[in-house]
Amino acid sequence: MTAPLLEVRDLQVAFQRRGDAEPVMPVTDVSFDIRPGERVGLVGESGSGKSLTALAVMGLIPRIGGELGPRTSISLSGESLLAKSEREMRWVRGGQVAMIFQDPLSSLNPVLKTGRQVIEALELHRPGLDKRQMRDIAVDLLDQVHLPRPERLMDSYPHELSGGMRQRVMIAIALAGDPDLLIADEPTTALDVTIQAGVLDLLHELGEARDLAVLLITHDLSIVAGFTHRVLVMYGGRLVERAPTRDLYADPRHPYTGLLLRSIPPLDRTEERLVAIAGSPPEPAARPDGCGFNPRCPFAVEPVCTTEHPPLVMLGDPAGSSRATACARVDEIDLASLAPAPAAATAGTAADDVVLVKVERLSKTFKIKGEGLVGHELITAVDGVSLELRRGEVLGIVGESGSGKSTLARCMLHLIEPSSGTVRFDGQDLGGLGVRQLRRLRLQMQMIFQDPASSLDPRMRVGRILAEPLRIHGLWGTSGHDEQALRDLIELVQLPPDSLSRFPHEFSGGQRQRIAIARSLTARPSLLVCDEPVSALDVSVRSSILNLLADLREEFGLTMVFIAHDLSLVRYLCDRIGVMHRGRLVELRSTEDLFADPVHAHTTELLAAQPVPDPATEQQRRAHRRSLVGASR
Ligand code: SF4
Repeated sequence: MTAPLLEVRDLQVAFQRRGDAEPVMPVTDVSFDIRPGERVGLVGESGSGKSLTALAVMGLIPRIGGELGPRTSISLSGESLLAKSEREMRWVRGGQVAMIFQDPLSSLNPVLKTGRQVIEALELHRPGLDKRQMRDIAVDLLDQVHLPRPERLMDSYPHELSGGMRQRVMIAIALAGDPDLLIADEPTTALDVTIQAGVLDLLHELGEARDLAVLLITHDLSIVAGFTHRVLVMYGGRLVERAPTRDLYADPRHPYTGLLLRSIPPLDRTEERLVAIAGSPPEPAARPDGCGFNPRCPFAVEPVCTTEHPPLVMLGDPAGSSRATACARVDEIDLASLAPAPAAATAGTAADDVVLVKVERLSKTFKIKGEGLVGHELITAVDGVSLELRRGEVLGIVGESGSGKSTLARCMLHLIEPSSGTVRFDGQDLGGLGVRQLRRLRLQMQMIFQDPASSLDPRMRVGRILAEPLRIHGLWGTSGHDEQALRDLIELVQLPPDSLSRFPHEFSGGQRQRIAIARSLTARPSLLVCDEPVSALDVSVRSSILNLLADLREEFGLTMVFIAHDLSLVRYLCDRIGVMHRGRLVELRSTEDLFADPVHAHTTELLAAQPVPDPATEQQRRAHRRSLVGASR
């Protein structure tokens, strides 16, 4: 077998916080190898320790105030990285191991032209080249990452490029030192699905062409499915499963991996309720005794799961096996028993024929500052959209960032004034209402936002937050709008009974979104507009919120608009789906029809780019995309 390129043994990262007797250990006992040219996925939720693992390989832990454990060893091509001086590590970074991050805009220098930034990396790692050679190589690198007109791009500034182009520039800079290993830390999280697919295809192509090993760090198991040879799963600062990619998806052995895979809404069916993982990932300073997953694990038993953390052990024949898992009960448990229950109410549940919201030829134009001598320009965010929403229906609105979906939602509630067109709610033209009438009507039209932390007042206790809309409208204390009603709401959204007396910061992200949902329900609205309500949540928490929304729709007959960029989410929850593209509603169909037979080219493009947690399907899709791109080059 080929010798490993990277060997990490017993990685431990510790931070000593002022006033604490013991250091906090966000990463413990992590060991893994990466072979030359191998693509490995490192998957975990926020706080799992995956980014710290990458920073440890780059020798950057001391720079952020941490230190490595005494038993930790990290070697590259057989040489210990921990024995190198900072000066030597500067050569390693970029020259042997390069790294790209989630947000290329903050990694690129905004005042330097793109070409200059690539040349700076060349000057550092390939000294001895003259200016002409440097420029030629820089142009060639931009060409290798498939940026159009690379000669012209040399003179562009980062702000003149799209997000996907900026990430390609970062990859070109990373390649300048001709590294053996590229660490890509959530490189596509900020990108739309179609751009994401292009960047992953590029990394795959470069990996094969240059025999470049890639460590892809992500929270999304769908992304690594078609990209990697092997997957490492982290939870609570430890590796909990390691397996060849196909084996992991076909037969996950750790309960956390199994639950994560089952919590991803499938693209091909809707009849099952999503499997949810109870609770949320632990904070590094508050990890439980025993197995770190035991508070959330449906198979946990005392004392075996609550005393010692199980080590990562090989499965089957240790000599030939490349699979390992850290579960003390791996030989006893049956992950197939985690089968999902039938859905309570998901896509396809009948709505009645009464139209609750009617939008006609709605447009919204924004005036933005122009360039140079031009005073301002007009941007059309929503362009002539018409649609109807029936009572009890859940309408999904999908589209890439900037497609106009959130602006459309805000115009539907008249949170922002449309430039033209009308919105009727229950027969009333919202444009014809006065401020007070509109405010009163908004009690029936509530909105849930993406980031619950910024939509909840941190100075108010939850009870006050929930009662606030009722107080503003003078309804607090009237029939059904009292303390008991709030307690019922808290129970309905499955929060602890003492939640009303606590502050928002005392809750996890998923719990805060439950508070936001409870607040939206206090006045018993008939329309709920959810704008990317689960995008900011950990994967394991998303499905419980989606199940909650499905339950609320069933219980109250709520009409909903559900905005998302993830097609699997709208597939699960919505009766019909509208696709927005450049401000226009380009397709509006029943969920079944849209997935079975998309009509508009942009819908087809979105569906083809939506990652699915199935290695074989993802590989077929990449081959198909590659053939299309090859034909067009
Ligand atoms: S050791 Fe116990 S708690 Fe941990 S994953 Fe296995 S069964 Fe669950």
